Amino acid sequence: MKNFLDFIYDAQPMRVVFRPGAALTATAGEAERLGLRRVLVLSGSRGADTAQAVADSLGEACVGLHAEAKMHVPVEVADHAVELARTLGADGCVAVGGGSAVGLGKAIALRTGLPLIAVPSTYAGSEMTPVWGLTENGAKRTGRDPAVLPRSVVYDPELTLELPVPLTVTSGINAIAHAVEALYAPDTSPVIALMAEEGVGALAGALPELAAEPRSLEARSRALYGAWLCGSCLGATTMGLHHKLCHVLGGTFGLPHAETHTVVLPYALAYNAPAAPLTASVVARALDAEDAPRALWDLARRLGAPRSLAELGLKEGDLATAAAQAVSQAYANPRPVTEEGVLALLRAAYEGTPPA
Ligand code: NAD
Repeated sequence: MKNFLDFIYDAQPMRVVFRPGAALTATAGEAERLGLRRVLVLSGSRGADTAQAVADSLGEACVGLHAEAKMHVPVEVADHAVELARTLGADGCVAVGGGSAVGLGKAIALRTGLPLIAVPSTYAGSEMTPVWGLTENGAKRTGRDPAVLPRSVVYDPELTLELPVPLTVTSGINAIAHAVEALYAPDTSPVIALMAEEGVGALAGALPELAAEPRSLEARSRALYGAWLCGSCLGATTMGLHHKLCHVLGGTFGLPHAETHTVVLPYALAYNAPAAPLTASVVARALDAEDAPRALWDLARRLGAPRSLAELGLKEGDLATAAAQAVSQAYANPRPVTEEGVLALLRAAYEGTPPA
């Protein structure tokens, strides 16, 4: 994070409605505002009931529900959804669910230009970014395109009341990771720093409360508010080593998205902290702690999250391949990324030892 006033801030042009109950009371109004009359509702199979309720709330403006979203948007899933949207003559999509449902809506928007409304049910933050992803033959491609940025985002904390505690914790820490990397991004700014600190503080406060009382609407609201801010940080900046590592571990080794972010984050921040002391101190302040990497590690452990890459199924023999992939292309990072350094980071994350 820079400590001087020299920055560019490119605000993302979308609208946010945040209110308990908004999924069912505000989505139709958002579709109407955009002039949509033939909306296709998207979700994963587990979120189909909620998506059906949103579809019902749209009345005649809904032409179908497609509950086929899958993690990392396999290209054949995207092809099928695009075909369906064309067959139905859809003029827009509403994605109800986590990053996978929003990702499918983005894939349709990328191919067809159809406007997207997002109704998120996790803390992943995809709804606030112009980044799309598609997976083909085991490799995930991503890109930025303003066409995939949702035109409107409907945040409804009630939708997250049933989010299981383990996913609540890991999805929340996935969001924190966006804010951490935004603080030391080359395109950070004072606005991003404000959002990042507020977002990390809101999530770090809410997650322990949700682990104890998952149906607290008040804590759910604060967590979703934090997720919105952290997602905004992700959408406005360039991510570094941490996101690169998680991309490799998810894309090449099939490790689960939010859990991987949770395990890797303390080690990635420990690696970068010497080159980004201001980021480490802002994160520590938001966590009300002295040592940011250690506080993130403690938070995850206290809330019962997975503690090591070994626990997530990575094999020791994969560490060297993952390290080589993570350094194969240059990207912005506050501390130079060396294969040796990344291998040591990954080994510590593999073993789950305290970040040093
Ligand atoms: P997800 O959408 O796959 O959801 C995880 C699981 O939780 C699913 O089984 C889902 O059905 C279930 N679920 C979701 N909401 C629920 C709720 N409220 N109650 C109960 N169960 C619920 O996972 P995710 O972590 O939200 O998103 C991960 C995906 O999003 C990855 O593919 C990742 O790459 C992508 N992503 C993209 C961006 C971007 O900017 N493009 C940003 C973040 C994440």
